[in-house]
Amino acid sequence: MSWDFSTDHDYQEQLDWMREFVRAEIWPLESIWHELGLDGLKAAMAPLQEQVKARGLWATHLPPELGGQGMGQVKLGLMHEILGTSPIAPLAFGNAAPDSGNSEILAMAGTPEQKDRWLHPLLAGDLRSAFSMTEPNSPGSDPTQLRTRAVRDGDGWVIDGLKWFTSNGSIADFLIVMAVTSPEARPSQRASMFIVPVDTPGVEIVRDVPTMEHPAEHFGGYGGHSEVVYEGVRVPGEALLGAEGEGFVLAQQRLGPGRIHHCMRWLGVARRAFDMMCERATYRQAHGSLLAQKQTVQNWIADSAAEMQAARLMTLHAAWVMDTEGHRAARTDVALIKFYGAKVLHDVVDRAVQAHGSLGYSTDLPLEQMYRFARAARIYDGPDEVHRQSVARHILAGYSPPIDEVPSEHLPTRREQARERFAHLLEAVTAND
Ligand SMILES: Cc1cc2nc3c(=O)[nH]c(=O)nc-3n(C[C@H](O)[C@H](O)[C@H](O)COP(=O)(O)OP(=O)(O)OC[C@H]3O[C@@H](n4cnc5c(N)ncnc54)[C@H](O)[C@@H]3O)c2cc1C
Repeated sequence: MSWDFSTDHDYQEQLDWMREFVRAEIWPLESIWHELGLDGLKAAMAPLQEQVKARGLWATHLPPELGGQGMGQVKLGLMHEILGTSPIAPLAFGNAAPDSGNSEILAMAGTPEQKDRWLHPLLAGDLRSAFSMTEPNSPGSDPTQLRTRAVRDGDGWVIDGLKWFTSNGSIADFLIVMAVTSPEARPSQRASMFIVPVDTPGVEIVRDVPTMEHPAEHFGGYGGHSEVVYEGVRVPGEALLGAEGEGFVLAQQRLGPGRIHHCMRWLGVARRAFDMMCERATYRQAHGSLLAQKQTVQNWIADSAAEMQAARLMTLHAAWVMDTEGHRAARTDVALIKFYGAKVLHDVVDRAVQAHGSLGYSTDLPLEQMYRFARAARIYDGPDEVHRQSVARHILAGYSPPIDEVPSEHLPTRREQARERFAHLLEAVTAND
């Protein structure tokens, strides 16, 4: 039997290096990265990316033949926990969303030509990508209802539809678009994926939707969520990514590991908020004592530590199941951590904001930004309710109604059964009376 929570020595050294590198080289850039603009950020990242490559830590999610390490999800998860402490750290490591997930799909389903044209430049940082599935007029939580259509036209396809929340759409060179190709097929086989260069006639990036994250209207920044019109967009047959009707299968394969990475990055954010909360508790005096001496604050600290530990172990366990038994076997574990991890992130950040009072609410600390980030985690990659539903469905599949609807643990019934079964013992007791 093996039941082991240790990290092998060599990889622990890499993790230690990453932790120090992110703190020393990337955290200092955080407060000015918006000012730097896209080109400035790229210039700032370039030397850091070289160091990451020299350590063999670039795009580690990909197989070795594509320059990655082919690391399993447990190792990737531990890495993402460190990268998650900063919104820009993944850029230095070649695994920032959505490019990382898109590169996984291209690696998994792309033809050699598609890999040459899109994947290799994406990995080299020469191209940017976006994933365009969600629509304003159909429920993203039930993508079998997608309305965007791709219809065969000679040897190519014509795509029509309206998408939004296509993250990084306004700075992308190409979009991976999910469109219905066989409306009459089984729901899971209706859609296909297409690679669509943004300069294809008929593609219009309308705007970056203002959000809690970026309430002021702006266009073309890293992390914007674009509304995109596809009107009579003609793409050649080679634009189809994977087989026709395989869109949802590919999306699932992309989303499983992606959710593990999200959860581990959230733990990185939660940990940073937690550290701020604990620091605050050590110096802020109110009503005759330090916050650290108040039971409510102690409860926040203890509860946060327990919840983060639970989320961490659950996430690493899901990663381990994925590594050892495959994506399918890990589906329920992944759904479990998606909603649980999002709640832990939210609650820890919320407590840290509260412990800082008005300072926590102000933009003088990163906590308010973390809070807005945390709110989105309960929605993207499937809202909480959908993941809870799928976990509950899976669990309930292991149960069936009791005979005559008498609960299995109904004590009078069990007592009666026990009396029958052990009548000889009871008789002996009565005889001794
Ligand atoms: C920051 C951010 C980035 C994103 N990036 C991308 C991206 O790059 N590409 C992309 O394609 N999409 C992206 N999205 C979209 C995201 O995946 C969708 O918003 C999400 O899937 C939910 O879809 P919806 O917004 O249409 O909500 P709906 O499907 O309309 O759901 C609304 C609400 O209904 C409730 N609900 C739904 N189903 C159930 C149920 N079964 N039981 C109970 N309640 C239910 C939930 O509370 C849910 O929040 C992003 C979203 C955000 C917030």
